[in-house]
Amino acid sequence: MHTETYRQLDRDHHLHPFTDFKALGEEGSRIVTHAEGVYIHDSEGNRILDAMAGLWCVNLGYGREELVAAATAQLRELPYYNNFFKSTHPPAVKLAEMLCRLAPAHMNRVFFTGSGSEANDTVLRMVRRYWALEGKPDKQWVIARENAYHGSTVAGLSLGGMAPMHAQGGPLVPKIAHVRQPYWFGEGRDTSPEAFGRECAAALEAKILELGEENVAAFIAEPVQGAGGAIIPPQSYWPAVKEVLARYDILLVVDEVICGFGRLGEWFASIHYDLKPDLMPIAKGLSSGYLPIGGVLVGDRVAETLIERGGEFFHGFTYSGHPVCAAVALKNLELMQAEGIVERVRDDVGPYLAERWATLADHPLVGEVRSLGLIGALELIDPATGERFPKSLAAGTLCRDICFDLGLVMRSVGDTMIISPPLVITRAEIDELVGLAREALDETA
Ligand code: PLP
Repeated sequence: MHTETYRQLDRDHHLHPFTDFKALGEEGSRIVTHAEGVYIHDSEGNRILDAMAGLWCVNLGYGREELVAAATAQLRELPYYNNFFKSTHPPAVKLAEMLCRLAPAHMNRVFFTGSGSEANDTVLRMVRRYWALEGKPDKQWVIARENAYHGSTVAGLSLGGMAPMHAQGGPLVPKIAHVRQPYWFGEGRDTSPEAFGRECAAALEAKILELGEENVAAFIAEPVQGAGGAIIPPQSYWPAVKEVLARYDILLVVDEVICGFGRLGEWFASIHYDLKPDLMPIAKGLSSGYLPIGGVLVGDRVAETLIERGGEFFHGFTYSGHPVCAAVALKNLELMQAEGIVERVRDDVGPYLAERWATLADHPLVGEVRSLGLIGALELIDPATGERFPKSLAAGTLCRDICFDLGLVMRSVGDTMIISPPLVITRAEIDELVGLAREALDETA
């Protein structure tokens, strides 16, 4: 089939996620046909450097034959069986064991899901169930953050703090509150980053006191906000949050869906930030996006209560721990270990990206450059005023489209340009990425 035929059929029948259907109908889709390494290819013969690793997930890059082989072998052996009641199968067991080995020492159980959103639905079920079993059924409020992303299911969008999603979300899940995000460039520039980080932690404490400690079940946060704009909190933020949480009896949920599996140069961001989560939702990089799988790593405190006192937990999915997805995830983690991918991000390509990315700071359109491991952002500003562009100019969208035309996938969140490339990216490919980003900034100016 030709490109135009695909485009027309796509217009006629395909409702894309997070898309203005009508605008897409007018513009038409880019048809991605194949990919290798850090590059995707479209039906018009363009090769494009995918600096978003798909959607923050293709950590081992495209075209890994080992993952194809793992999927094929498992499809032959046992394409499906569930883990309900008293059944299990080798891929789910082996993956559970390996995950608990990689996770912080107090996390020894995992509940599998099909996605990150389902993982966060599971989180909500688990924290409320935990407190009910502890004899504190009033502890139901979950505190999250404005502009957080925790998924697109009803629980996921309720936990998330995305205003446009809330506006379209119908009735949200009750008893979820949102507090200030540690977004210094966007909201805190009238003070120092360190003072602002502490202010955000103080806002969390104020919300706990407002709701009453006896009513608050958990605090959930992404270690570095991804979809909100690759927001790296000020250094003071997490230590101050830890102090607040230690004062009150509230569970910590660290959403590792993007930051887990090496993105920040450790297996989990919780290790980087020295956090001790009670629950850790995971997905994306778990299988490098080759097949859909997610889960919740559960710390001993919560697991013990759920197991010893919970009886049957009325929750689960047909595809919880799907054998083919689990086999691919297991192989993905084995390859990451064998190839030292996490150490490579920490010691080599992460610092190299930081150095090269920082060179964009001299561009008149750039107000801030930030990165950590292999996640990064550029804040676009109007050179005439030194302030952000008026929203109506949609400078970020323009820059994103120019990037695409130049051969680079970079995402825009408002006027924040973000990257999260595959963890296998080489130094030469980082040079290419930064070169294309500069060209795109020049064209946007
Ligand atoms: N949590 C975070 C931090 C995410 O970034 C995402 C997706 O981008 C999710 C949860 C939801 O994951 P999924 O799209 O697999 O449902």
